[in-house]
Amino acid sequence: MREYKLFIGGEFVDAASGETIDTPNPSTGEPAGRVAVAGAEDVQRAVGAARKAADEGPWPTMKPQERSRIMLDAFEKIFAASSDISQIETEDAGHTVRMSNLFTVPYSNEFWKFLSDLGGRIPYTEKVEPYGFPTEAWEWVEREPYGVVGAIIPWNLPYMMAMWKIPPAVVTGNAIVVKPALETPLSALALAEIIAETDIPPGVINIVPGHGPTAGEALVTDPRVDKLSFTGSTEVGRRIMQLGSGTIKHVSLELGGKGPNILLDDADLDIAIPGSLWATYMHQGQFCTSGTRLFAPASLYDEVTARLVELAESLTVGSAEDFSSDMGPVLNQTQFGTIDRYVQIGQDEGAKLLTGGSRITEGVPEGGYYYQPTIFGDVENSMVIAQEEIFGPVLSVIRYEAVEDAIRMANDTVYGLSGGVWSRDIPRALAVARRIKAGSVWINDWHLISPASPHGGYKQSGLGREHGIWGLNQYLETKYIRVAQEATKDQKFWYQVLGV
Ligand code: NAD
Repeated sequence: MREYKLFIGGEFVDAASGETIDTPNPSTGEPAGRVAVAGAEDVQRAVGAARKAADEGPWPTMKPQERSRIMLDAFEKIFAASSDISQIETEDAGHTVRMSNLFTVPYSNEFWKFLSDLGGRIPYTEKVEPYGFPTEAWEWVEREPYGVVGAIIPWNLPYMMAMWKIPPAVVTGNAIVVKPALETPLSALALAEIIAETDIPPGVINIVPGHGPTAGEALVTDPRVDKLSFTGSTEVGRRIMQLGSGTIKHVSLELGGKGPNILLDDADLDIAIPGSLWATYMHQGQFCTSGTRLFAPASLYDEVTARLVELAESLTVGSAEDFSSDMGPVLNQTQFGTIDRYVQIGQDEGAKLLTGGSRITEGVPEGGYYYQPTIFGDVENSMVIAQEEIFGPVLSVIRYEAVEDAIRMANDTVYGLSGGVWSRDIPRALAVARRIKAGSVWINDWHLISPASPHGGYKQSGLGREHGIWGLNQYLETKYIRVAQEATKDQKFWYQVLGV
């Protein structure tokens, strides 16, 4: 069994309490690894190490190109560990072997590579347009790291979220304390083992998995943390914002979603039907950007639902470690219970269960929680199953008459993370895409975002944007510098105003 300690100040250490936890493999329920559990005291130590690296270390004052070079050197080691990390992600987080080897790990690695490179190329000094009022001056802006970043990540995509937080924060000169979810801490700690072997100085990156209300809140409330970057549920995001307000922390939030997926009547169904299932069933629906509300035109409703059901029923659900599994287990019993409860609510609300709706027990390992790919028809957008994030393999199909109605219903949600349109007519799809109130909208595609593109939510799906130049800017303060041009006191603006 893999065992990991906390990564603080460049060293692997036990928790102050000595507490450890076994994290179960979602496919089997057997332990996938054992990790030290960070408490408030450990988080405070990690913040202390990060503070030291930010205040005294060479990292923040190093040339950005030099930081970039060190991080790109580190990338070689990270890349070399890809298959091992894929295996860990499968065992710890239940990503199918196909998902972790083809998607999660290589895709996440690209974010480290691209953002580490971009961080060495962006201008850290910017000209200010000369204005001449109240006086002429030499003026410019310098971009500086905040200092210490506290990052909190969710259990569903642990490696990807670590790779979305660490590179942009660190390449811009910050030190970071990452708190992974205790359900799936292993891949971030495997990354820590690689980082320990690189030239990134001790204390710049610290990784401390722990419980949210203890370790998480210790990080959020620590006055030595300058900036918080949180990915998780909207409910916890709200709490992070409240707690961070005590010390006016800069907060960026990547939260939940209920992605509207509008299928237009000229869509190529050979692509749109499987594409809509990819949008919903990727990682058993445990994905923030999932397209869980499919708006189907009334004229095609019967054909669309029949084809969706046929395809959903053809999917192979099994152990994440089995190469033939299209879908794996859901995280654990709690997650299973939530999904099952929503499926019951959907039936009670009058939605029609077209397929799925139950746990799979035949032909799968006993200790895992496997859920049938589920589709509801006759869903009204106002129903609970169409409004709340289920975070499981459950698709709601909503009938519409006019495209205007579909757009109105698509936007009738508190969320605004993702959306999509399927059509053969790109200008027509584009006109619809522009009216969806969400941070990312795909046309004839879903989920994919390049490291150069911004990712984030409208409305209650978040604050700020990750990746690309937008993501790097989230980790940089803006300092205005003004050098006076007047040579004598009586030329001074303030001499005329105050007379001193
Ligand atoms: P969660 O909000 O329950 O937990 C997220 C993290 O916050 C965990 O590390 C948890 O330990 C920590 N936490 C919990 N309570 C805390 C508290 N009081 N103070 C500080 N930290 C606390 O979310 P989850 O169940 O782990 O993940 C699923 C959610 O994440 C979904 O809503 C999903 O949509 C969202 N998500 C969003 C994105 C995005 O990019 N927008 C990406 C992935 C997941």
